[in-house]
Amino acid sequence: MPLADIQDRIRAACEASNRAAADVTLIAVSKVQPNERVQDVLDQGHRVFGENKVQEAAGKWPTFRETYPDVQLHLIGPLQTNKVRQAMELAQSIHTVDRPKLANTIARIADETGACPDLFIQVNTGEEPQKAGILPAQSDEFISEVRALGLPLKGLMCIPPVDEEPSLHFALLAKIAKRNGLSALSMGMSGDFERAIALGATHIRVGSAIFGDRVPG
Ligand SMILES: *Cc1c(COP(=O)(O)O)cnc(C)c1O
Repeated sequence: MPLADIQDRIRAACEASNRAAADVTLIAVSKVQPNERVQDVLDQGHRVFGENKVQEAAGKWPTFRETYPDVQLHLIGPLQTNKVRQAMELAQSIHTVDRPKLANTIARIADETGACPDLFIQVNTGEEPQKAGILPAQSDEFISEVRALGLPLKGLMCIPPVDEEPSLHFALLAKIAKRNGLSALSMGMSGDFERAIALGATHIRVGSAIFGDRVPG
């Protein structure tokens, strides 16, 4: 689907819930996509992208950035502690802070370098054992811990279970954010971003609807 069509749908969803379109950031999720497709979206003027693997982002974005220094990169995939330094060098936002060890590592490197990307805490709203994210019942405490480290915590992120109505999960994430005074909500993908916008999403992560299907690698 052309990028302009996605932007139209974002505008319509914002209007329907009396929100300003400028309050919703479209993250074009370029993981696994061939460089020609990424180039095409860059050519259309889009500059905000998401990757879920540090390694892949490191192989792709430094070259694009030589031509497009204003690219904003969001890391939206699980992060191992041994990749944190590289992730912090590459990305302007990390959406997947989900455990104390990771937060501590980020804090240590931020102290050392004097710089830190914007952070989101991933919440495992569906309490799925195989999925990353802090459990909802532990989220208030973890939010306090991350704040106590002095880190730039912006908001929360979730990936709802595939077989459940995502709106329930979006509403839960919004509730946890609200009671903790966090304003950013990273939620909504190709199949459900309008519903996420209706429930307050500030960052939607849209891959296949923009780029087409991912070729399985
Ligand atoms: C791949 C991915 C997306 C994009 O998914 P689509 O369904 O292609 O829009 C969003 N969020 C995360 C965390 C992802 O890994």
